[in-house]
Amino acid sequence: MPKVIRVNKCFLWKGFLAITLGEVILTVAPLSERDLNHELIHVHQQRELLYLPFFVWYVVEWLVLLLKYRDRMKAYRNIRFEKEAYRHQDDLTYLSRRKHYHYQ
Ligand SMILES: [Zn+2]
Repeated sequence: MPKVIRVNKCFLWKGFLAITLGEVILTVAPLSERDLNHELIHVHQQRELLYLPFFVWYVVEWLVLLLKYRDRMKAYRNIRFEKEAYRHQDDLTYLSRRKHYHYQ
């Protein structure tokens, strides 16, 4: 189980509640089950991509989407990893049947 660490707001971008860095989830407030599920989906994504490639892919995809949409939040919400996490965050059983490398 990843470690959840409460941090000051200045550690995250404005408007963001949490960030998952490998096996550590940094959060500015207590996480609801839904929020924790969202971050745990990112943990699974990062594990299967062996961590570093996940972050490279994430940033490159965000930059490409930023060029496409010219909107930081719209680009963020359309990163494949975020789309999967947002789509399934309310399903607390999702991780038990999630397919590897299935970012939808
Ligand atoms: Zn996310």
